[in-house]
Amino acid sequence: MSGVSQTLITVAPTGAESAKADVPALPCSLDELVSTAKACQAAGAALIHVHVRDDDARPTLDLGYVRAAVAAVREATDLVVQVSSGGAVTDSYDARLGVLDSDPDGASLTCGTVNFGQDVFMNPWELIERLYLAMREREIVPEFELFDLGHVTTMRRLLDKHGAPDGGHVHADLVMGVPGGMPGTVQALTAAVQALPPEATWSATGVGRTTVPVMFAALAAQGHLRVGMEDTLTFAPGRPVRDNAELVERAATLAHLAQRPPMTPDEARGMLGIKDRRRTTGTGAS
Ligand SMILES: [Zn+2]
Repeated sequence: MSGVSQTLITVAPTGAESAKADVPALPCSLDELVSTAKACQAAGAALIHVHVRDDDARPTLDLGYVRAAVAAVREATDLVVQVSSGGAVTDSYDARLGVLDSDPDGASLTCGTVNFGQDVFMNPWELIERLYLAMREREIVPEFELFDLGHVTTMRRLLDKHGAPDGGHVHADLVMGVPGGMPGTVQALTAAVQALPPEATWSATGVGRTTVPVMFAALAAQGHLRVGMEDTLTFAPGRPVRDNAELVERAATLAHLAQRPPMTPDEARGMLGIKDRRRTTGTGAS
């Protein structure tokens, strides 16, 4: 990982956990998602991690909604478009596999089951394998989502058994500070990073109050950043997040201070081994 000079900033603007009624600034409609994506690209994001909501702002994996979201963000921005294959903790495995037919650039692939507050986010080995192979068939680049040290072991087992992902590059995202997952500490981050394959790149996100320390730790350790209202609703103690762009702006500021400025979407494609789908979708006029 030597030679990393720039920072990939991923924005996870919505998630499946918060209710629009509780968090009015959460982007839920297609228009809100697109305007968020544009603002976050302008603020320094290169990749967007998309969860889709239906007309009642409830999380959905309905393929029509997901397809429309992927196409609209691709049309309006240059961002790498990654869909969540995790969905909400209530979603079926088939529905989670189904979102891979929405023609995304990438998809998250959670590498193990985790307690999520009161809920259980189920990711048994067989599902992980099915998602991984389905992604490769569709030339979708996975982002290995790791909530715990054991998830790193599972990711390596997957790579050993099935070989490299589409594009040949391994990129992981450490999701830290979830109740039931690894804590958002320098020690946990170091342990997880040391367990990754040496050629892998990684980003980290700390949920809730671990957001800021995890950003500093990731920048110091040559990692990349994921921020957004999926993970953080409070900008500072007692002060709600204004919008996703505010979180991206803060991450970009820190990346500049660390002398690792934000990378562009095209630089992110290069690093992650993602093919450019921007000209192959859309109007179909040519
Ligand atoms: Zn997500």
